[in-house]
Amino acid sequence: MLSTGKLSHIEACPECDLLIDTAGQVKEGYVSQCPRCLGVLEHPQRLSIKKNFICVLTGLVFYFPAVFLPILKFTMLGNTEAMSIINCVQTLLTTANYGIALIVFFTLMVVPLVKMILIIFVTTSLYYHVKTHFLAISFRWYNNLNAWGMLDIFLLGVLVSAIKLTKDAELEPGWGLYAFVILLLTSALQAQLINQKLLWNLIERHGK
Ligand SMILES: [Zn+2]
Repeated sequence: MLSTGKLSHIEACPECDLLIDTAGQVKEGYVSQCPRCLGVLEHPQRLSIKKNFICVLTGLVFYFPAVFLPILKFTMLGNTEAMSIINCVQTLLTTANYGIALIVFFTLMVVPLVKMILIIFVTTSLYYHVKTHFLAISFRWYNNLNAWGMLDIFLLGVLVSAIKLTKDAELEPGWGLYAFVILLLTSALQAQLINQKLLWNLIERHGK
């Protein structure tokens, strides 16, 4: 019979669910694999913040044009009007659509910025061994906000189609839209670069 102490080392393979005894630490640079399907169980790496930095920096550079430059230009009856995300929020507020204004403001303006700040805070604190209590909660919030990720694309689509439906207008994408797409791509890439297991291990070790 297994004691509970030993049970804590048993892990299921994420690919084929084979139960494996994972007692003993895998050394940095080595890979532990599932004996049945050769799926990767653990691949300890040193935390690299360079790619993270490049990603967040690119995101920050494109954040401001994404918010302040027109995402759409529409021409109606000879008049051309340009609409940025911040204009959208203002228009929604002046037309008393407070709920939608709040959703647009949070999803398209607050969430992308907060996500970049959180991940830079977590990775640099871990990299430079800065002891802080906020690491676990920051990383958890980063993950929560990432789960919210698809909403911004959806909302952007709704905004574009709302303008297209209500106005009988010719549409032209503005620089803001391109900037926003790049912002979304950097955020998706960022999420891919993050090694969840490594970061949680480091947070457990250095987070307090
Ligand atoms: Zn397996």
